[in-house]
Amino acid sequence: MSKVYLSSPHMSGNEQPYIQEAFDLNWVAPLGNNVNGFEQELSSYNGVAHTTVLSSGTAAIHLALRILEVEPDDHVFVSSLTFVATANPVLYEHANPVFIDSEPDTWNMSPVALERALQDFDKAGQLPKAVIVVNLYGQSAKMDEIMSVCNSYGVPVIEDAAESLGSEYKGQKSGTFGHFGIYSFNGNKIITTSGGGALVSNDEAAIQKARFLSTQARDPAVHYEHSQVGYNYRMSNIVAGVGRGQLEVLDQRVQQRRAVFKRYYDAFHQIDGISFQPELEGTYSNKWLTALTIDPKQTGVSRDHIIESLSENNIEARPVWKPMHLQPLFEGSIYYPHQIDDSVSEKLFKDGICLPSGSNLAIEDQERVIKIILVVLN
Ligand SMILES: *Cc1c(COP(=O)(O)O)cnc(C)c1O
Repeated sequence: MSKVYLSSPHMSGNEQPYIQEAFDLNWVAPLGNNVNGFEQELSSYNGVAHTTVLSSGTAAIHLALRILEVEPDDHVFVSSLTFVATANPVLYEHANPVFIDSEPDTWNMSPVALERALQDFDKAGQLPKAVIVVNLYGQSAKMDEIMSVCNSYGVPVIEDAAESLGSEYKGQKSGTFGHFGIYSFNGNKIITTSGGGALVSNDEAAIQKARFLSTQARDPAVHYEHSQVGYNYRMSNIVAGVGRGQLEVLDQRVQQRRAVFKRYYDAFHQIDGISFQPELEGTYSNKWLTALTIDPKQTGVSRDHIIESLSENNIEARPVWKPMHLQPLFEGSIYYPHQIDDSVSEKLFKDGICLPSGSNLAIEDQERVIKIILVVLN
């Protein structure tokens, strides 16, 4: 039995000519035509004015925080239900993350909890320098509500669209709503460059600043002159070539992932106690990962039991992300639940599971996954 992965790289064959061109021109590093081309192609795909490509999605979040002048002891509000990379850059700047719960309709940041947090911090004269909102597993957050409450307090939004490249909210591409958006091209994401990320914005000066900071913050001078801390965060020309080839098949990858989701949905949605992550009306998810909850009371089976049974059959499945406010790393951080006595992310973490969702998942393999789960449930 071959191993079935949660989400593995899926190359298209279109990458090689771009890489070959970089070799032919000896434009291997640092910058070059693939970097420029990938930036332009990403901008036009997403309908955003400016893009800079970087070594990772984490680097993109870090630069966004630097450009928004997050300083030690500042506050940054962050979705709690996410991968740690969303929150780590807040610690790089010695600022304090404040974690905001999810709501049940998208599993993403609760606008109600966000508003309560903003009210409290405003009263204390400590408005956050930024709000980082995540689009979990490809599903857009309630961006209208989130943008409207953040705008009313004048707090800039960073949209962590690492998992939602290709998704839409009311016809607009995910990642283009906030002051900044970030994407990831890590190996497990919907398209990959082996590793990489992008920062996007309609603010041209901000993206220029990001390019400056990502290349060691060299002031204009023939000798090497520096007046600010910089980073080595730029994407290489070879890596960008991989990205150009992958971007050509992004829409196809979205359709393939949605087809994977549909097969799981058809197999399980009628079972009492199973609920899929909803696709909010007016949104279009890339369905990066199919995520669902399994209520042990109704099904008689725990999420962990299903993960174990799959693992025994060489199939990788994972719990939904462990919320950041429950992580030892962030012990003592402030957390705003959806309602005072209702923590949605904790419930999702308790019963939530992500199933193998790769765009290259063979139908026979997916049928194996489905069959094992049905056997365990019966
Ligand atoms: C993958 C991911 C990141 C980080 O991207 P890298 O390119 O791996 O640094 C950030 N946020 C979320 C939600 C992610 O899933």
